[in-house]
Amino acid sequence: MSTRTTRDWQTADTSHHLHPFTDFKSLAAKGTRVIVKGDGIYLWDSDGEKILDAMSGLWCVNVGYGRQELIDAATAQLKQLPFYNSFFQTTTPPAIELAELLAEVTPPQFRHVFFSGSGSEGNDTVVRMVRRYWDVLGQPERQIIISRNNAYHGSTMAGASLGGMGGMHAQGGLPIPGIVHIEQPFWFEHGQAMTRDEFGLRAARWLDEKIREIGPAKVAAFIGEPVQGAGGVIVPPDTYWPEVQRICDEHGILLVSDEVICGFGRTGQWFGCETFGFRPDLMTFAKGVTSGYIPLGGVMVGERIAKVLIDQGGEFNHGYTYSGHPVACAVALANIRVVQKEGLVERVRDELGPALAERFAELAEHPLVGEAQTCGAMGALQLVRNKAKSESFASELEVGMVCRGHCFGNGLIMRAVGDRMIVAPPLVMTLEQVDEMAGLIKRCLDLTLKDVKQRGWM
Ligand code: PMP
Repeated sequence: MSTRTTRDWQTADTSHHLHPFTDFKSLAAKGTRVIVKGDGIYLWDSDGEKILDAMSGLWCVNVGYGRQELIDAATAQLKQLPFYNSFFQTTTPPAIELAELLAEVTPPQFRHVFFSGSGSEGNDTVVRMVRRYWDVLGQPERQIIISRNNAYHGSTMAGASLGGMGGMHAQGGLPIPGIVHIEQPFWFEHGQAMTRDEFGLRAARWLDEKIREIGPAKVAAFIGEPVQGAGGVIVPPDTYWPEVQRICDEHGILLVSDEVICGFGRTGQWFGCETFGFRPDLMTFAKGVTSGYIPLGGVMVGERIAKVLIDQGGEFNHGYTYSGHPVACAVALANIRVVQKEGLVERVRDELGPALAERFAELAEHPLVGEAQTCGAMGALQLVRNKAKSESFASELEVGMVCRGHCFGNGLIMRAVGDRMIVAPPLVMTLEQVDEMAGLIKRCLDLTLKDVKQRGWM
């Protein structure tokens, strides 16, 4: 164990380490929090403070920290064969076995997988693959991929282009050509004049209108997260996805479900598309496939596409050094077996999800909360200035960040997306721990309310 103090760590960090999605100068002024240990749903920092991790790391540590099964799988594979690739007519047993197991746990249209190292890379593969599919079918003019504002699909050039984050597009000349965006199915922001179900159908029709505007023969695919995660846990109305499916079918375009967050039980089914009732042609995954213990991502390739690429496609000029990394695949196998053995998907559906929904319904009564939403093991609280009128705070007040600051100070990791406070706890969180988390959230909301009133913002 290192003997460096927190101050030492912070100084060295500031001197050499550029963090993701960070204003480097302001982080240097505040100092990083250094996380040194994890166990179950808890983390400890370098000052010995215990923290309840209500975000599962970054939506990924689904089986909790410190699982021996995953550690043993990694150790054994590192000793046996730490690396070999799947290029040039070779592969490794863990990659084969994981491909087999993924074909078993994913919906029936999926029998093949293409591995990547992350969710962003998986979505780069999606872009390459859908365009290749249409090329092979003799329709090379089908290039355009439709996505949504406030979507998150990663941070590579293609991932950030598919995403609908203005701040990301503004840096680096994005989106790349051939990617367009429609409005998101966010009822609180865009649909309050309608019922949720009416709005769901309206939001799906934005897709139909965009396809007709472009010309259906030019559209390759539509991509979406079943529930937008990084966008703020935006749970779409029940009517949305079935209508999106109908529209994609009508125009013959491919449907891609980005399951990087929703996959592997987060929504109470194995995959978010099963919770929301649609049948994607491609499915991106990462995070929960290994519970984040080691990087791994990939794309499940539906038979409609796999058949064309296999029978007629010739060489697919795409792949990564770490596609099918044997240690990552061994950890994924161990992780998925834990999910199966402990019935974690059913647990989210029958126990954790309902408990979270109940606690969030109580938190919805709080004067600061304008809307509470949950889906399986994720939830969001929309902070508002005027509850009766659903009136938001001015965005420059950054009330979400004030609340996040209180979470930070009270041993709770909760994320702020604008003024939307979100959680996505490990799927192994017990019911007592749900209560503990809800108690901490309540305390932080109270502290935020006090601040907001003191500053005259409410
Ligand atoms: N897609 C979705 C839906 C995500 O939430 C994320 C990451 N939060 C990604 C893609 C990108 O994954 P990665 O960070 O592993 O590249």
